[in-house]
Amino acid sequence: MKKIGFIGTGVMGKSIIGHLLDNNYTVNIYNRTKSKAETLISGGAIWRDSPSEVAEESDVIITMVGYPSDVEEVYYGELGIFKADISDKVLIDLTTSTPSMAKKISQTASEHNARALDAPVSGGDLGAKNGTLTVMVGGEQEAYESMKSLLELFSSSLMLHGPAGSGQHTKMANQIMVAGTMTGLVEMLVYAEKAGLNLEKVIKTVGGGAAGNWSLENYAPRILKKDYSPGFFVKHFIKDLNIALEESGKMQLNLPATKLAKNLYDQLSQDGYDESGTQSLIKLWWDAE
Ligand code: NAP
Repeated sequence: MKKIGFIGTGVMGKSIIGHLLDNNYTVNIYNRTKSKAETLISGGAIWRDSPSEVAEESDVIITMVGYPSDVEEVYYGELGIFKADISDKVLIDLTTSTPSMAKKISQTASEHNARALDAPVSGGDLGAKNGTLTVMVGGEQEAYESMKSLLELFSSSLMLHGPAGSGQHTKMANQIMVAGTMTGLVEMLVYAEKAGLNLEKVIKTVGGGAAGNWSLENYAPRILKKDYSPGFFVKHFIKDLNIALEESGKMQLNLPATKLAKNLYDQLSQDGYDESGTQSLIKLWWDAE
């Protein structure tokens, strides 16, 4: 059985590692803050002191950190993955990062006789917990085929979209859509409340019609419970919208609705909600009243 390395034991990583452990894999783990890995260590994961040590001890190395700069550090840093002997190994980055970073990692991996896949995910903290994530993969067909059964341990939808970087481009397409569903969700709630409607009834009704969507289904109930915990951090959504707008700029595309969503999330960040979940967007209205 292949030994798995996993770097990044945050909201998403910890649940995904749980599925690997449940399936009896040996999992070598590393996280910037060790205390966030304690529960996993008690659950059977093996702590390693650096990304390079994880890579040295594993056949497949999975990363799920925060920002492209974290990805850079984990792969190219002084104690990074590329400092280890990774010949014949497979590197999989689940972080939502840039297509250019994915291409760079793929290039460096092939120089080390290894293969790399960019494989960002969608489905949120609950998707990770339930093992029902959607995984969007970029890279070579053969590496993809060899990793499919592993990725299926925590996903219910998996597809190869093209060469290195295509997974990240697909994730950006996903985030452009989510920008619209999140702004739609909060403006719908703000409107329905002002109109004196019963919000639970409205959510049920619009969810069954043409306005039904994932954001409504997953985040509307949290908003009604005043649960603004992440889920998906505001700071990470801003990171994603910045990448999406930068990439669209490179393609001479103008995406005004995505820009507007990013401006609203920037405002939310300035109000101190970086560490909250993206459903806290509603605070721009409900806190302002
Ligand atoms: P998170 O809770 O912040 O987890 C990221 C983890 O990576 C943290 O534990 C962090 O360590 C660790 N890390 C960061 N830089 C590191 C480094 N240089 N070396 C070692 N560990 C490092 O975030 P998350 O919600 O799991 O999200 C992770 C990624 O998935 C992000 O790119 C996000 O955009 C994406 N994503 C998230 C969701 C979601 O719903 N949450 C859904 C899809 C995609 P510390 O403990 O020191 O902070």
